[in-house]
Amino acid sequence: MKLNVMNALRHPGEIFDFEKDISIESAGGYETVGPLHISLQYTYDQSKVTVFGSANIDIKGCCDRCLKDAIVKLEFDFQEYFYKQENKPNEDAYTFDKNFVDLEEPINNHIELYAPMKLLCSESCKGLCKICGHDLNESDCDHVIKD
Ligand SMILES: [Zn+2]
Ligand SMILES: [Zn+2]
Repeated sequence: MKLNVMNALRHPGEIFDFEKDISIESAGGYETVGPLHISLQYTYDQSKVTVFGSANIDIKGCCDRCLKDAIVKLEFDFQEYFYKQENKPNEDAYTFDKNFVDLEEPINNHIELYAPMKLLCSESCKGLCKICGHDLNESDCDHVIKD
């Protein structure tokens, strides 16, 4: 997931656009559905490349209530700095190599951060009966107590 920023390195201070759908199969520890869409801008200020914008992706997991597939759309803002190796302000800072910044690690970190603690197939998922395990989205079972 490398972004060629040569034009920015050659023209410090100018802002460049980058928009792309990237095919990936997993990210941030999740299976993904469809491409990662990124809509970014990047610029170089003589010491670092700043990449900013937004991204979205559908992640897939197991519904916390009914255990069926849950697909959740994540949308997040993105802003990261990539330094020249020799200008790295700390050990954890991202760097760029020749003309490329690698978005894979920061994107994965964002997905981990923005993914909900529990995935749901839908906000209104009724889940499984705690007694017989019946899927209450399909129908009620005898254990459903009606008010
Ligand atoms: Zn569910
Ligand atoms: Zn039941």
